[in-house]
Amino acid sequence: MLLSDPVSGPGPVHNLGIHNVADLVHHLPRRHEDRRSFRPITSLVEGERAIVHGTVERIRLVRMRGRRTAVDGRVADDSGSIRVRWWNMPWLVSSLPAGTEVVLYGRVKKGEITQPEYEAVRAEDPLNVGRIVPVYPLTKGVNGPALRRAIHQALTEVVETLTDPLPPSILGERGLPPLADALFSIHFPADRDDLARAKRRLGYDEFFYFQLAVAIQRRHARRQPGVAQKWSATLDQRIRARLPFQLTAAQERTVGEIVADLTKPEPMNRLLQGDVGSGKTAVAVFASLVAVANKTQVAFLAPTEVLARQHLATLQHMLKDSDVGLALLVGSTGAAERRQLLRELKLGVVDLIVGTHALLEPAVEFSRLGLVVVDEQHKFGVEQRARLIRKGVRPDVLVMTATPIPRTLALTAFGDLDGSVIDEMPPGRTPSATLVLRRAQGHRAYKRIREEAAAGRQSYVVFPLVAESEEIDAGAAQEGFAELVAGPLKGLRAGLVTGRTPAVEKTATMDAFRAGEIDVLVGTTVLEVGLDVPNATVMVVESAERFGLSTLHQLRGRVGRGTSPSFCFLLASRLTVEAKDRLLVMEATDDGFRIAEEDLRLRGPGEFFGTRQHGMPEFRVADLVRDHAVLVQAREDAFALLARDGRFERHPDLRAELTRRFVGRIGLYEVG
Ligand code: ADP
Ligand code: MG
Repeated sequence: MLLSDPVSGPGPVHNLGIHNVADLVHHLPRRHEDRRSFRPITSLVEGERAIVHGTVERIRLVRMRGRRTAVDGRVADDSGSIRVRWWNMPWLVSSLPAGTEVVLYGRVKKGEITQPEYEAVRAEDPLNVGRIVPVYPLTKGVNGPALRRAIHQALTEVVETLTDPLPPSILGERGLPPLADALFSIHFPADRDDLARAKRRLGYDEFFYFQLAVAIQRRHARRQPGVAQKWSATLDQRIRARLPFQLTAAQERTVGEIVADLTKPEPMNRLLQGDVGSGKTAVAVFASLVAVANKTQVAFLAPTEVLARQHLATLQHMLKDSDVGLALLVGSTGAAERRQLLRELKLGVVDLIVGTHALLEPAVEFSRLGLVVVDEQHKFGVEQRARLIRKGVRPDVLVMTATPIPRTLALTAFGDLDGSVIDEMPPGRTPSATLVLRRAQGHRAYKRIREEAAAGRQSYVVFPLVAESEEIDAGAAQEGFAELVAGPLKGLRAGLVTGRTPAVEKTATMDAFRAGEIDVLVGTTVLEVGLDVPNATVMVVESAERFGLSTLHQLRGRVGRGTSPSFCFLLASRLTVEAKDRLLVMEATDDGFRIAEEDLRLRGPGEFFGTRQHGMPEFRVADLVRDHAVLVQAREDAFALLARDGRFERHPDLRAELTRRFVGRIGLYEVG
């Protein structure tokens, strides 16, 4: 038997993505069940998840109201018996008739087991009982014992001939078992330790091959020349003269890293991280001016229209009386203006264009795009970024994020980017005080808003996403707004901005807020990113328990930008213990990185990134949070290996394994 042999067998295994023997042995268990010995039924404890081994004593179908059915049975072992029930699985009556020996897995509740996973077994069958047993993802027509048998047989036959693509030096250095052993043990472990060893090896593999792919992509991206910008002391002085402040040491360092990239022929691919308010915009403007001075164009992408306008205003202010051609392209740009603008952009009359998703449309063409800046990159998908980048010939790329990305994710989702971090705040900031309050205590927050308004300062109130739909969202904010204006905010000048507010009105409200003509700006998470109004000193978040920590941190970052003390009130409507623990993290720290790590730990990578496409692979064995150290090792090893043997001449098996894992999923430019 060879790994490439097709799996004939019953058709349904193909639904599991199993087509050949390699697929079969790589079809990993979703969990394991310790069936070395079973606890007597009479010793089961209320509330526990239990594994039961016994014989079906009786079983019958019960019809319920509507079309619902229940299968009601009793399973017994030597010690006694327990009631078992399954909803809407009527076929079980015939597939588990009285007398069938079964293993059940489920929660014990009120003296019965409801809806357990089940398996008909025979006690003498060594693959299914008397050992730690693999439990696989299944599909209709494929049962656990059959799949176990097939996998066991495949393993037994190929294990001898299985070559390990990882060089022995890595195995030795990292203390990893050979692949054949690990594969065998992840399916059929001898004991817990054996299983842990197998997981360590296969988890390492997941990281290693992914990082190898990242390293290849990175090398590919850098190999082809892009624009090499010119740099001079005069240019440096000219740019600095336009900045309204002195750069912080962290900004200086970052600018240095970026300028070094820009002047090289390889395209820059850099992720700039900096906590909210750390001054990323100035760094991006600096880079932009270098590009413009070199007669290349800059595309500055922002996630919201409000933010795009804010960036434009900043740029206009700094570039007053210069001959840099600035433009704005957003969803609400009028048709005639847009046509004109697109022409100018293509002709190269526009040097720097700030915009929203509108910039991504095919009609937007550049004459010579030299730099792409993506602000608040987590609001965009990988594909959106790529669409903008493709409008130039390998332009330099700077992506910025104020949601600090936990190190682990930075190394995976952004593993092909270089990183810069602004880890210092501009001078004159007063950190804001954060207070978690029950909704009933909300008046304390609104009292503070009134006090600040009396002193001429401003506030934000944010309502949560109540649903995926922005419509419903806007509705809730609208209602909340009406209540606030009639109640706790009565007499104050208040404005509302939601996803449904027409763009013109949104701009007008924002401008009024910026000009200090509005005391309180109420809105949905559209207020989350980028807003920069130093006179705002209070942030109130309604139903704060509904937000992720990183979002709350972003929201809090809207205040604390001036010299007056600032306040962030997190109002909790429904406070579970977990929600409270989570919110208290916000009271405890304002370190964005710590908050991000905590967020990742609590919600996992998928949730952390939200629903957007983020280019993260799925790791089935490895755990991004728990296995950070392994990830770092695997990345080191993968990059070192590629540097030593760039074409896999000494490691042909590695190339084959890479292809098996990633073919069709990411462009493995020079592999295979
Ligand atoms: P973010 O990193 O969140 O995008 P911004 O770029 O909006 O932050 O900067 C936040 C505020 O800090 C802005 O008002 C900006 O003008 C100000 N700022 C940035 N850098 C400095 C600096 N070096 N000195 C003083 N103020 C600065
Ligand atoms: Mg910003």
